[in-house]
Amino acid sequence: MSLVKETVKNWQPIASSREEGIVEEIGDGIAIISGLQHVNYGEIIIFENGQKALVQDIQKDTVGCMIFGKDDAIVEGDKVFRTGKTAGIPVSDAIIGRVVDALGEPIDGKGDITAEAYYPIERPAPEILDRAPVYRPIETGILSIDSMFPIGRGQRELIIGDRQTGKTAVAIDTVVNQKDKNVICIYVAIGQKSSSVAQLQENLKKHGAMDYSIIVAATASEPAAKQYIAPYAGTAIAEFFMNRGKDVLIIYDDLSKHAIAYRTISLLLGRSPGREAYPGDVFYLHSRLLERSAQLSNENGGGSLTALPIVETQAGDVSAYIPTNIISITDGQIFLESELFFAGQRPAVNVGLSVSRVGGAAQTKAVKKAASTLRLELAQYREMEIFTQFSSDLDETTKRQLKFGQGLMQLLKQDQFSPMSQSEQVITLVVALNRLLLDVDTKEVKQSMEGIINYIHMHEPSIITEIEEKKQLIDHVKERIIILAKEYLNDRK
Ligand code: ATP
Ligand code: MG
Repeated sequence: MSLVKETVKNWQPIASSREEGIVEEIGDGIAIISGLQHVNYGEIIIFENGQKALVQDIQKDTVGCMIFGKDDAIVEGDKVFRTGKTAGIPVSDAIIGRVVDALGEPIDGKGDITAEAYYPIERPAPEILDRAPVYRPIETGILSIDSMFPIGRGQRELIIGDRQTGKTAVAIDTVVNQKDKNVICIYVAIGQKSSSVAQLQENLKKHGAMDYSIIVAATASEPAAKQYIAPYAGTAIAEFFMNRGKDVLIIYDDLSKHAIAYRTISLLLGRSPGREAYPGDVFYLHSRLLERSAQLSNENGGGSLTALPIVETQAGDVSAYIPTNIISITDGQIFLESELFFAGQRPAVNVGLSVSRVGGAAQTKAVKKAASTLRLELAQYREMEIFTQFSSDLDETTKRQLKFGQGLMQLLKQDQFSPMSQSEQVITLVVALNRLLLDVDTKEVKQSMEGIINYIHMHEPSIITEIEEKKQLIDHVKERIIILAKEYLNDRK
């Protein structure tokens, strides 16, 4: 065993002249090469002009590879050499705060990043025995998510919805909320406009979140090859930190575009298309990526990798090929709905279709206790809303029930970049679910709630510290919240 380890350690990648290939065909970022008899799948090869490519397809006499840069300098008949090296990415602590491309090259004009290690972009996921159950939360700061669909460290929670429904916003809010929480955040942009990525970087910077974040960008203008490897490269960076005991959050924005990049490559490589013209292994493509998220056991350092993959749907169709695939690979989904979004209910979380399958174990006791009846109340409200849609004369109880539901919906509205702390969430939930705001005009519910939170901050700050520190909601504190809220509301009458 030690001999194997030593050989691997001392091994130097070299362009082997013994195995030399010839470009047979070139175009669209794909080259077909003959003569590379022993090349491996996933190996990096080098053209005589120094350009690199990744072997993606192995046939009897030829191999197909995807080129990372422009292909116009390569012509048929050019020589190609093996490197014996699988694709990897240089990693180090210095990468934090930087923007890199899919090969780890900095693209923010802030100079080179000194590498500490070289991590392969594809590596097997941690085994079951190396893992621990998900047990700590990753707080998004978004009330509707933390209260009803809590996400645990090591979990994979899909953010899914049509275009322009606030998907990226949910992910970025989560990043912003990790400030001072000791989590390293990696945002992987796949197939987006460069301007969107620049804007996003600006926003992170503005909110002090770039200090603990890394952006891996493969924009729409880059070759499909780079878009294809970007999420794996981002994950390799994440693993570097996770393996050193850190907690990491990674966002893949988005995997629909990733699947399209892979489809392009596969079609160019001449693979036979399957459902929706995607190659047959597109499921494996995403499962081997998302399997790498984990909560490592203490023996393995206790680090974690939480993934928030994003998927774009067409007209809310979650039953299309890529959405169903990824839904089945993840541990739950936050479903964002255009209709809610346009009606001003933002974040536009569809409570009925969203779910978090493992996060409950990680939710703090305080929020769990405070939010216990929220989902049920909202479900009842939705039903009643549909039922009473066309009736004009409603009895008093029904009217109040509807008003209660409308109030809850108001409280779940939240602007971008305004994360709620645990104590704010708990107070909001306790006050709302104890129906203390029923006499407040629906339009003013949000404002009153802010007033109550400020009032508690001023008159009994120990409530806030108690919740934040102990992460529990004891009955006495709950009662005090109710009393103070009533006090505030009475004063204002
Ligand atoms: P795309 O499909 O283009 O990637 P998306 O689903 O990622 O879109 P975002 O870019 O996050 O959506 O948001 C769309 C617009 O809605 C943005 O202008 C954003 O600022 C706004 N928005 C998102 N969330 C909220 C919110 N909670 N409150 C107010 N505005 C929001
Ligand atoms: Mg987006």
